[in-house]
Amino acid sequence: MKRLLFGAILLIAALAAVLLVNTLRYGAAQVAVQEGEPVAVDADAAARRLAQALTFPTVWREGQMQASRTAFEDLHRHLASAFPRVHAALEREVVNGHSLLYTWPGTEAGARPVLLMAHQDVVPVDPATASNWQHPPFAGGIADGHVWGRGAIDHKSGVLGILEATEMLLERSFAPACTVYLAFGHDEESGGEAGAVAIAALLRRRGVQLEFVLDEGGVVADGILPGIEPPVALIGIAEKGFVNLELRVETGGGHSSMPPAETANGILARAVSRLERHPMPARLDGAASLMFERVGPAMPFAGRLVFANLWLFRPLVVRQLAAAPTMNAMVRTTTAVTILEGGVRENVLPTSARAVANFRVLPGDSIEGVIDHVVGAIDDRRVRVTRHGDVASEPSPVSSTSAPAWHLLERTIREVFPGVMVAPFQVVTATDSRHYEGVSAEVYRFTPLTVGPDDVARIHGVDERIPVAGYAQAIRFYHRLLVNAATPGR
Ligand SMILES: [Zn+2]
Repeated sequence: MKRLLFGAILLIAALAAVLLVNTLRYGAAQVAVQEGEPVAVDADAAARRLAQALTFPTVWREGQMQASRTAFEDLHRHLASAFPRVHAALEREVVNGHSLLYTWPGTEAGARPVLLMAHQDVVPVDPATASNWQHPPFAGGIADGHVWGRGAIDHKSGVLGILEATEMLLERSFAPACTVYLAFGHDEESGGEAGAVAIAALLRRRGVQLEFVLDEGGVVADGILPGIEPPVALIGIAEKGFVNLELRVETGGGHSSMPPAETANGILARAVSRLERHPMPARLDGAASLMFERVGPAMPFAGRLVFANLWLFRPLVVRQLAAAPTMNAMVRTTTAVTILEGGVRENVLPTSARAVANFRVLPGDSIEGVIDHVVGAIDDRRVRVTRHGDVASEPSPVSSTSAPAWHLLERTIREVFPGVMVAPFQVVTATDSRHYEGVSAEVYRFTPLTVGPDDVARIHGVDERIPVAGYAQAIRFYHRLLVNAATPGR
């Protein structure tokens, strides 16, 4: 008996030692960079040019209503007058009426081109909340150190920030070694079919193979990742796909005074409930796993202990992550039942009932796999499961975290944002960059802005704004990126 007890204690001590040693050795060094003098940016002038761009309500509407057409034309005129050097030196093509593709030819024939992208369109302002804005959404106000308005972050600061950096480089006669493309779509918020899809197809037809694409996506997250003190620059290396499925039940109708045991509504409700209780399995791999490899070492001791010993704690970690909606979205294909319909009158049995569920598909899963899972989870032949609508997208490939383009991006971020950690990231929404699959091996999604917990709701919400100083920093980032990517002889 004593021997057994002794053996158990020895085992526990050995386990504790292994956990501790792993924790103490746990670390992923952030790349060391030389901090240079930050490039001079006329922040106030740049803010004024951005503010002016926010006065054009470039809400893309199918059917091209005159109002939105005028807004895009006004924006284009503003860009041409605000960035004269860009418009003199770069070739500018208008694609599908409103999208813009600028080409800045490189000086070295063999150098693979790079592409920076952003989108001109903005989401509409909900009329119910329009009066809640501190500064009207399309007035281009500058106050309290911020530029206010719809599109300030998402994503005219990207369009104009990239053009500011290019204009500055042209001013000092910079000639890129590789060709630089600037691509600004006009319908990102509606799926990008007319804009990014067309631009990518144009490049594909011309046989262009890009070194990398940079689009919006992850931000410099400050105080957003639980337990992580320093700001973390999150570079999206993958984005989720999506599909909508309809669940439909059809039964005989009749008078509600003599109902069967189950109505169409009851059958559907049971199916929806089963669907919610059986989501697609959660797993920590791919981009989310790579993110924790990078940020884990910055966690408090308990967090480091757990993440340094995933061989033991993985199931526990996955369960913990899945409990919070933001993290859950990074570790599984999510299920959201968004529409429920059934019945026409209180005393008539419904002959049909339907639900629509929106799935965001994690890389590694597929639309086919989601449909199989849904049919199995519901396990009821009376419920017909079909694709709803024709807009769907498979998850993107996962871009490399060891490619030269990744290292370039990582270094550039660390140079411009001193003290931040850089980590890969799983983007849970859809961006225009997914359309560049096949034109570029590496697609990265990073918005060079520091965002805190208070800022997240402003994007697509009320009081969207960007700090003037933060915007200047974004311009420095694009400037540095172009220098690092395109200086001859690198
Ligand atoms: Zn956007």
